[in-house]
This record gives sequence, C-alpha cells and structure tokens, in this order.
Amino acid sequence: MNGLYLGIYVVLILLLVILGAFIFMNRKAHIKKIIFFSILIFTILLFVGYYGYSILNKPILKINGSEIVNISVFDKYNDEGFEIKHPNSTKLKKAVKVDNNVDTNKVGTYNVKYSLKYFGKDIYATRIVNVIDEIKPIIELKGNTELTLSRGIEYAEQGYTATDNYDGDITNKVKVENNILDEVGKYEIIYSVTDSSGNSYSIKRIVNRLNNNNGVIYLTFDDGPSSNTSKILDILKSENIKATFFVVNYGSAYDLLVQRIVNEGHTIALHSYTHDYKIIYASEESYFNDLITLKNKVKNTTGIDSIIIRFPGGSSNTISSFNKGIMSRLVNAVKEQGYHYFDWNVDSRDAGVAKNSTEVYNNVMKGLIPNRSNVVLMHDLGYNVKTVEALKNIIEDSKNKGYSFARITNDTPMITHKVNN
Ligand SMILES: [Zn+2]
Repeated sequence: MNGLYLGIYVVLILLLVILGAFIFMNRKAHIKKIIFFSILIFTILLFVGYYGYSILNKPILKINGSEIVNISVFDKYNDEGFEIKHPNSTKLKKAVKVDNNVDTNKVGTYNVKYSLKYFGKDIYATRIVNVIDEIKPIIELKGNTELTLSRGIEYAEQGYTATDNYDGDITNKVKVENNILDEVGKYEIIYSVTDSSGNSYSIKRIVNRLNNNNGVIYLTFDDGPSSNTSKILDILKSENIKATFFVVNYGSAYDLLVQRIVNEGHTIALHSYTHDYKIIYASEESYFNDLITLKNKVKNTTGIDSIIIRFPGGSSNTISSFNKGIMSRLVNAVKEQGYHYFDWNVDSRDAGVAKNSTEVYNNVMKGLIPNRSNVVLMHDLGYNVKTVEALKNIIEDSKNKGYSFARITNDTPMITHKVNN
C-alpha cells in the first residue's frame, strides 16, 4: 500500500480517536451532532484519500514491441498492442482507445495511438508505423537483348516495358542511354527506371556493330495491288526500306495506291495485265499485247514508263509448255526490246505451300545467302495476310544479320532462272 494512503488512514483513525474522546468526556453533550460530523469528516477524508491515492498512482501505458515499425507495402500489419501497469489494469485496459489508421496499401508514415482518459488526464502512447516500398521495378526488353547491326544501319529501338509492384506501369519513366556509333564495336543501350519510392533498376541491351554487309535483299511483291498493299507500304515505311512491286491490271480504285508506291520511293514494275497463262503464252505477239497494255496503264497512272518486268510463273515456268519454246523466244525478245526481266532466288512460297506467317518467315530466312543479291518472291494478294504478318520480322531479322535492302532499278543486274521451255 502506498505510504500516503497509509498516512491518510492514520490521520482518519487519529480523528476518530479524538472524536471518541470527546464523546466519552462529555456524556451530556450533543452526542448525536458529534457522531454526525464525525461520519461526515470520515467520509470526506476517505474520499480525499482515495482521490489522492488514485492521482498519485497513475497507470502506465506501455507499447508492446517496437515504437517504430517498418513494414512492406501490401504486407499485413499486426499491431502488437499495449500493456497497462496499474493494480486495476484489467478494467483500465478495456477503456483504452486504439486509433489505428495504418493503410498497408499506401506507402507512408502512420501513427497508432493508444489513449486512456484517467481522472481528467490523457494517458497515451504512440507507435510509428512506416509502410515502405523496397521492391525494385522491373524492365522487360522487347526483341533481342543482344543483336548485330551492320554499319550504316541505324538502330531502331525494339521497345521495353517497366512495371513496379507499387506504381504499376512506369514505362514512361524509363531513361534510355544509347551511345551506338557507326564504328565497328560493341555498344550498350542502358535502360533504367526509378519508382516513386526511389528504388532503381537497370538493364542492358548489347549491340554489336559489324563491318560486313551481308548482301542486298530485293523484296518483290507480285500480283498487286490489293487490300494488303497499304499495310505492306506502311511496314516498308516504318522500316525505312524500299521494295519492288510487280503489278497486274487494277481498277481505278487502286490508282492512288499505285501512285503511293511510286511516291514512297518504291519501284513499280510490270508483271502482266491479265495474268492468264493461256493468253500470255499463246504467242510472242499475245505476250507483248498483254505487257504493253499494262505498261501504258501504269504510265497513265504514275507517269513511269517501266522497263522492269517479271514473267508470270517466272522465266523458268513450264506452264507455258503448251507453246513449245515460247519462254526461250520471249527471254530474248524482251531483252532485245530493252526490258530487264527478274526472276527470284529466294521463294517465300506465300502463294504456294506456306501455311502461315511462320512458314513464310522461315522460307525467306532460310533462302537468304550472304554476299549476293537476294531477290525475294512474295505476293501482294488480298488473301495473303500471312505475308503481311511475316514482313516486319523478315525485315528486322535480316537487318540484324547484316543485310541491307534495295529496290530493283534499271541498273540492277538481272537475276534470272534457267529457262525450261
Ligand atoms: Zn504472278
């Protein structure tokens, strides 16, 4: 028991003794009054004693665990609670108010406040809870993490995404450092990003600048224009390369598209007006009628008087064998008349056995041979979506292998097949 409390009781008892003495010495005094006041004084003193005791015996509120707690964002927060040190702790504990607004979904500093009203006074303790994000963001590179690039070809960024556990998509915060020169050498592209909590991450892409130019690719598109032409042109434009279109007869709806082929720097070349083997290969005269009809049409549309041609089926075709020797005669005749005819040495088989864009891609990539002119046969036909789908990969991967691209011009050496008829 507290000393003061004991003191108060001693005083009380002394008073009672004095009162008792009075009562015994004055038997005829106002005993009733004395008893009444005695009880009154006793009660007051008891009350004051209790109060005094309680105020001097304030409870102590103690936090369990640490006063400062760090937890990771999105983790679960378990408060460790508090203890009350006081003889009456069980009852007082129930009266403690806990103010906990910790939001573990949000980075920040929070207070957990434990408070108790005790005889008009606030008894409290505060715990600081830091919700922190210590997890680094991640950058994922699109395309190859190491690639080769021939001299003279500009590196085209292959793309990336950055995500953070807390901030979400932070791709737009990525900083790209690129010191690629045109000199032969090994270069790094450094991608780095920092999240809103200051956690940083970086990743590299290696670019090997090579001296060798593996050779030229002439992409050629037969049988257009079609509903795919504009998509093909868009890809060629985004890759900044030129190609060659061997067109067939087209309706006036395609005039603008044919003009666009020319405007964007590609070669417009002649395939066939009818593309009907029975008509074209019926005779030399029939062949040239068909060719000149197309040549005039293209000239009317574009102003280009093309002398670059490709035989339907190629100069090696045997579909013309119903007219024996026609191809042998035609290859000489066209040359005599100043035409340059082109077959191909890489066949995408996109109008034949290739079932999908992967097969188109594989046929082209397998057909490419370094250090020569690669003339790639493809078809600009409306149903030929697989060619469009394969085109970008063919171009980018060929660039990475050191090939460059060109269109066929009047100066391009002819690539021809062996004539079989
Ligand atoms: Zn054709």
